[in-house]
Amino acid sequence: MFTRVATLFALSFVFVAGSIAVAQRMTVAQAPPAAGEPATSVAPIPATPQPAEPAPQPPPVVAEPPAQTPPAAVIAPPAQKPAPVVTVPTPMPPAKPAITQDPKDSLPAKLLFAAKQLPTLGKAMAIGYYPRGCLSGGVELPVTGPTWQVMRVSRNRNWGHPDLIRFLEKFAPRAAKSTGWKGILVGDLAQPRGGPTPSDHKSHQTGLDVDIWFMPMPSHVLSKDERDKIAAPNVVADNWKELNPKNWTPQHIAFIKAAADQPEVERVLVNAAIKQELCRVEGKNKDGWMSKVRPWYGHHDHIHVRLKCPADSPNCRAQPPLPGDDGCGKNALDYWFSDKVLRPQKPTTPTTPKTPPKALTLADLPPACKTVLSAPARE
Ligand SMILES: [Zn+2]
Repeated sequence: MFTRVATLFALSFVFVAGSIAVAQRMTVAQAPPAAGEPATSVAPIPATPQPAEPAPQPPPVVAEPPAQTPPAAVIAPPAQKPAPVVTVPTPMPPAKPAITQDPKDSLPAKLLFAAKQLPTLGKAMAIGYYPRGCLSGGVELPVTGPTWQVMRVSRNRNWGHPDLIRFLEKFAPRAAKSTGWKGILVGDLAQPRGGPTPSDHKSHQTGLDVDIWFMPMPSHVLSKDERDKIAAPNVVADNWKELNPKNWTPQHIAFIKAAADQPEVERVLVNAAIKQELCRVEGKNKDGWMSKVRPWYGHHDHIHVRLKCPADSPNCRAQPPLPGDDGCGKNALDYWFSDKVLRPQKPTTPTTPKTPPKALTLADLPPACKTVLSAPARE
């Protein structure tokens, strides 16, 4: 009897336990679909307690990324990206200052100086040597004065050191008086900042040289066109050994003397045939002015007056002192009438190319001329 009861009890216990197990399997199998997993995976999953854990995770994973990643993405890039952009290009600029050669230094200086239409601001100074220098603080000679007119105005070479302008303002009425002319015709002085010129002038670079024509000033004010086209007469004969009596007059001697007489004048350059005539007419004159009149190439239609270095120009290089004589010695002019000068030798082989002399560059001029070139202009 007790054994049956115990057996029944045991059987009913097993039944109850089995029912509970079945019920658990059914609840577990219903939960997974919420996790979004494929429906096919639900069926094969055995009735274990594990599948219940992955289910809660997907929702937070989906909910968090949209909420947190955007702000992080917005803040980080703007703060960190610009920095590397700046640091990359900076190493490059330091390479440029290493270039010490200014490309301007190798250009012909005549082009650089001819391009300057105005003088520099500041103190007037003649810099360097007459054929290798420049001019600071240049002053313009008015193109028309009471007793002078400037020729070739379009060249813009009526600029000089103030000493030269003062000399011309004083010389013009003086020359007019001593010759009986209305006045003088003035050729080239210097460019606004001096320096080499595009034409054949070798000097005229420091604002201390001026060409003055062997021609009386007309009584009317010349037009710009006349000033550009009228040519100065050649006072030397075709053989280059004597004067042309049609163009040469005694007034020309008075004209030259009026220039050479001035204490600030260093040299007056004339053609050798003119010097020869001066020696013939004025040879006994030993008061000094004859010594300043020296023969040079060209100068058959104008005199070239060169002033001494001004006191205010410490960088002006003086010309070697004149020989003590008057330049009228027995053989003094022989060289100038030699075949070497009058009939320069032609090249032995006609095909030999003539190499033109190298144009002066900025590097050939005094360093101060580079400053003159870049200095602000005086309007
Ligand atoms: Zn000259």
